[in-house]
Parts: sequence; structure tokens; C-alpha cells
Amino acid sequence: MSADRLAGVGVSPGAGYGPAHRLVREIPEPPRGSRHGGDAEAERRRAERALEQVAADLSARGDRAGGEARDVLAAQAMMALDPGLASVVAELVGQGVSAPRAVFEAFGKYRDLLAGAGDYLAGRVADLDDIRDRAVAALEGLPLPGLPQDPPEPYVLVARDLAPADTALLDPAAVAAFVTEEGGPTSHTAILARSLGVPAVVGCAGATAIPPGTRVLVDGSTGAVRLSPTEEEVARAMRADADQDALLATVTGPGATADGHAVPLLANVGGPADIAPALAAGAEGVGLFRTEFLFLDREDPPTWEEQQDAYRAVFEAFSGSRVVVRVLDAGADKPLDFLPPPAPEPNPALGERGVRMFRHYPDVLAAQLDALARAAEGTSARVQVMAPMVATVEEAAWFADACRTAGLPSSGVMIEIPAAALRAADIAAVTGFFSIGTNDLTQYALAADREAGALAGLQDPWHPAVLDLVALAASAAAAAGRECGLCGEAAADPALACVFAGLGVTSLSMAALALPRVRAALARHTLDACRRAAAAARAANSAAAARAAARAKLPALAELSL
Ligand code: PEP
Ligand code: MG
Repeated sequence: MSADRLAGVGVSPGAGYGPAHRLVREIPEPPRGSRHGGDAEAERRRAERALEQVAADLSARGDRAGGEARDVLAAQAMMALDPGLASVVAELVGQGVSAPRAVFEAFGKYRDLLAGAGDYLAGRVADLDDIRDRAVAALEGLPLPGLPQDPPEPYVLVARDLAPADTALLDPAAVAAFVTEEGGPTSHTAILARSLGVPAVVGCAGATAIPPGTRVLVDGSTGAVRLSPTEEEVARAMRADADQDALLATVTGPGATADGHAVPLLANVGGPADIAPALAAGAEGVGLFRTEFLFLDREDPPTWEEQQDAYRAVFEAFSGSRVVVRVLDAGADKPLDFLPPPAPEPNPALGERGVRMFRHYPDVLAAQLDALARAAEGTSARVQVMAPMVATVEEAAWFADACRTAGLPSSGVMIEIPAAALRAADIAAVTGFFSIGTNDLTQYALAADREAGALAGLQDPWHPAVLDLVALAASAAAAAGRECGLCGEAAADPALACVFAGLGVTSLSMAALALPRVRAALARHTLDACRRAAAAARAANSAAAARAAARAKLPALAELSL
């Protein structure tokens, strides 16, 4: 790969362009005892310039923000230019200490003074730390910690990996694209990017070495990352993106194949914030409400009222439609502080998670089901509840019982463990519906951790083994007269969506962003074509061959540039 082109896995389609901002969580302390080369005056001037640059940046940010923020940031800028601070720095540099270490130690002295000087001044310690980090970052050529404040233009966020906490305060309009070094196609980075509607590439080797400020063009479909592209390349990519959006927008209405076989298209949501994009994209309901996303940063279990408010907001937005709520899926890649595994686990992905966790915390399940039942009262949404990570008939029956006790008549299970898919007929006998979770199903079928970027090649839902498991679950559901939806990230791939319809999946649920692409792909192919594509994919002996074989049977995909 040449220095100006990187490649990863495209996980959230669209083109994004802007200056790279590397997300760092904290600036490391310059090593104790680090010394400069000998020219103390040059080193002192370097420190002075860094502090002046920090002050100028803070003032400029204040001017852009206006109002109260201007005063706060002007005061912070003054701190950076404090003559007392400059003389401590000069003294340390005079003794041979390097500029970054001298700045760090000088701020340390001020910090101790402020911290001991009463509540108001102690409250300014965080401001001081912020200025110190900015100055040290400038001296060491490091990006600033956290997300850019009031960026003058949308930026490309580059990170080793993104956690939900990193993106919680992120304004999607300020981010042109995400590029991460880690993470596979079903990692939570990918899921978050899709739910925010931001183009994203994960598993991109070399991403964190992109120099900050480099202009980057990201193709969230192909995974191509182009550094310092020409204006012409950018214009071409943006035009192609806009043309495709316009073409896809011409296909509207409920999901169906060209010959009218209905495949309801539902949205994956993580809370009330995802309602508006789902409605705007024409979602026919919610196929996966990931309730654990509401409480990722909580130390105590959410209260009954909090749960009710969040559930009711979603039910009311989708009144008259189906809303499939998944009970808290805690553990492994989605740890919840209030539902810790009962003992340390060497391998959390194979440990206590999903429905298994509720065996240890039955009260948390009972409280959630009760809040769901009460929130469902008085709305006309068709509320269905499902359990994650079900492996056995006993678990499925236990969950169905718990739902009945709570007054929730419609309960189902996720099929995301190979054992459940292989013995789907047994499970169908004790549950109301299936929803296939291809993210975990792929991870467990291929024994490839979904969070590991280096294994992205193995986490491929096109693998015929995964397609076989989907086929088994869908046919067992059909034989038992049960619905079999699919809500893993694979539903967002227009070609796979056609294959799943051909395998007998009865509805597809995905991030709102993906709905127009999948709707258009289904609308251009008959159910028979989808079945032929599914058969061709299952007859292949690798993921790549399955994809190629299926696409060959779905000719309109290329016409739609999908
Ligand atoms: C899945 O595993 O496919 C799924 C939809 O659940 P999650 O991604 O939340 O584990
Ligand atoms: Mg899962």
C-alpha cells in the first residue's frame, strides 16, 4: 500500500472528506529527567512559542463561540501567558530540563497552589491541566486529547478504536468520517458509525500514523482511505455519492422484492436519539432495540421510571408498528457496570453474557420486563421482547416464562450462537419468534473475535458456514410457523439482504442509513432471483466466492452502484 493510500474495511457507506484529527485520550507525561540538547535559549523560546500558540488557539475558539464561552476561554488564554509561569519554565530550561518537561513541571507547581486555595480556584485546576496538555502536545507534535471543539469544518476522526463513550458527545454533523485501526465489520465502532450515519472504515492498518491535519478522503463502502487527494478526486467522489443518494431516494415504500414478496425493513435503534433518522428513512418498525446502549455508562441499575421514559418514546414514535426490544445484552464487548460477571473471566466472549447474566440477576430482568410491559400499555406499538445469546431450549423456555409472568405475550430469542441455529427446530417449539444476530453468529461460527481488527477477514457473514446456519434457522422457523427476522450488521449489505430474503428470512433490521440501499436492492430483484443468489452463495466454498456467485445472480446491484 503506498504512503498516500490506506485500506481497511468499509463499514458505513458514503464519502467523507476533511482534515484528519487523531483521537487521543490523554497526553502522556514527558519523562522525568528528560533534557534538551544544550541551547537553553532556543529551548526556552520553543516553550514560549508553544504557550503563545495555545493562548492564540483558545482566544480564537472563544471568538468563534462568542457569549460566555469567549470570557471563559479568554481567561484560560491569559493563564497560558502568565509571566510567573514563563519564568518557572525559563528557570527549569536553564537547568537543562527539556521544554515539554519544564512546561509540565511548571504547571505542576501552579496546580498544587490552586488545588489548595479553596473551592473556586480548585475548580480551575482542570483548566490548567487542559492548557498544560495543549502546550505539551504542541511541543511533542502530538494531537490534542479529546474531540476538536468548534471545528471550523467537518473532520475525519482517526483512532485506534472508538468506544461508545468517545462518541457520546460527538456531533455527527462535525465529523466527515471515521477511520480506525482496530475493529471489525461488526465491532461497536462500526455499529456506532452506522447509527450516526457517518461514513466509516475500520481495521485500517497505519491509520493512527496519519499526520494530524492531513486532508483525507474516505470511502465508507470500499474501505479506501486516500491521503491528500487532488481537488478533482474529491469532487468526483462527492458527486458519485450524491448521484447514488438521489437514485436510491426514488425507491420508496415498504420493503418488497420486485414481484411483491414483502420483506419488512425495520430499524436498529439504541434509544430515542435514533428515532428521527429511522422514521426519515422509512423504517417500518424497529427490529432491534439495543436497550443496553441506554445504560452503558451507568454504575447503578436504571430506575423503573428512566426505563419507562426511554421505552415509551420509542413505542410512541412507532405506534401501529412492530417494535422488537432486546433485554439488556451485558457482557463481553458491552460490559455494564451494574451487571458484572459473577467471577473474573479469562474469555468474556465465551463467558457470562446476554441471557446467561440474568440467571445471576433475575431481579434486573424482572424490573426491565415490568417497565416494558407498563410502557407498552396505552401505546399501539406491537411490542415484542427478545433475549440475546440464547444457546439452549431451557434458556428459551425460561425467558418465555419470565415474559408471560410480566404480562408480555410476545417473546422470542436471538439466534446468534451456532448451537441455537443448528437446533432451531427445538427452540422454535418453545418461543414465539427468531431474530438472527449475524454479528455474534459469525464471530462464533468462525471463532474470530468481532472486536479484533486483525481478524476482519474472518468475520465475514458471506462465509457459506454462516449462510448455512441462517438457512437452518429460517427453515426451522417457517416449519414451526414462526417469524424469522435478521438484525445483524449483515442485513445492511444490499447483496446479502437479497440472499437472506432468498434463504427465507422474513424481515430485515438495520441502521437507518442502510435502509434506502437495501430497499432499492430488493425492489429490483424477484424472490426467485434472491433464491438463486442464495443457492449460488451456499454452493461456494469461501466467503469471497459466495459473494461473487450471489452478485452474479443479482445484476441490478451494479446498475445501482451497490
Ligand atoms: C448480533 O450479534 O448480530 C446482534 C444484532 O447483536 P449485537 O451486535 O448487539 O451483539
Ligand atoms: Mg449479538
